[in-house]
Amino acid sequence: MKYANFPGTDVKASRLGFGCMRLPTLPDGSVDRPEAIRMIRGAIDAGVTYVDTAYGYHGGESEKVVGEALKDGYRERVTLTTKLPLWKVEKTADMENLLDEQLGRLQTDHVDFYLAHAVNGERFDAVCALGLLEFMDEMQKKGKIRYPGFSFHDDAETFKRVVDSYPWKLAQVQMNILDENNQATMRGIEYAASKGIGIVIMEPLRGGALTRNVPREVEALYAAMPEKRSPAEWAFRYLYDRPEIITILSGMSEKAQVEDNLRIFDHAEPGCANEAEKQLFQKVRATYEARVKVGCTGCEYCQPCPQGVKIPRTFRAYDNAAVFDTFERFYTDYLKDPTAANCVECGLCESQCPQHISIRQWLKDIHAEAMAYQASKK
Ligand code: SF4
Ligand code: SF4
Repeated sequence: MKYANFPGTDVKASRLGFGCMRLPTLPDGSVDRPEAIRMIRGAIDAGVTYVDTAYGYHGGESEKVVGEALKDGYRERVTLTTKLPLWKVEKTADMENLLDEQLGRLQTDHVDFYLAHAVNGERFDAVCALGLLEFMDEMQKKGKIRYPGFSFHDDAETFKRVVDSYPWKLAQVQMNILDENNQATMRGIEYAASKGIGIVIMEPLRGGALTRNVPREVEALYAAMPEKRSPAEWAFRYLYDRPEIITILSGMSEKAQVEDNLRIFDHAEPGCANEAEKQLFQKVRATYEARVKVGCTGCEYCQPCPQGVKIPRTFRAYDNAAVFDTFERFYTDYLKDPTAANCVECGLCESQCPQHISIRQWLKDIHAEAMAYQASKK
């Protein structure tokens, strides 16, 4: 296992973080507690020192399971992060009440990092008006949290605004080979790091999509490299090569995943990727991007449609299916709410689309494909 220091703190953390949002579950959907505890403790025994959870993971069960797993001396061996569910904050007092509830679930008197969860511009402004930043100050003084941070889902400009608003010590962002330019990724990471904020990565494998249904063209790129690595290992390597990234979260659901990740992160040295590997990452991204069909950026300028057609949602899901070859899942989901059928071809949306997408034609084509799929299943 390799380790890195969070700037401006006394925290040294493993570069592999145990993300507790996809713990093993039983057939009824509840967490398989004995197995989850075995996995978390096994990972810590093998060198993982960063554990991440949140109020809402597994409907609140994740924090409780983590609390159990960290008994018997494990708590002292890890950097523990959890998150304030901003959407549950209606008044100032809610924040400390939620934190106290979380500390109870986690069976600890403090967390090392406490993150404002899933920050976007609107939500951030609303909770700041209720005193989020003062709350972060006060909880540090009370010793309930050691360092403040935030996890983020919005655009790069909002990210910069949030970074500049407070002396955060940690920013958790989504990044992977495909998302380098989405949301607040590469530009945001570089900006936050320049301000002395440690970066934690979520969704390093795009929810597993980068390891399932890997397109043949991408497999060929990996196979042409002299070092033989799995798609997961390449995806992690792309990230741990970056010195700004302190820890990469992996939501591990099986013991085999833990073991594979431990092996992969034995090599997690910043700056490890050579020139050929950097070119490989660019080619992999370009190859995935070439599979995109519609090219909708999700900007929502075409919304709302007077007929209620969910244009960006339909297009983004369709493109995702094209990239990862998951059309069956797309058709099944789409057919639950086939809003493209409502289009009366007024053309209003196309006049707003900066990408000049032939929205009406694509809606017709996608709907027809989904109907053909449905007919084929009868
Ligand atoms: S063309 Fe169709 S999708 Fe576009 S605004 Fe009109 S009804 Fe909505
Ligand atoms: S305006 Fe165009 S690019 Fe933007 S969401 Fe609508 S279809 Fe997609």
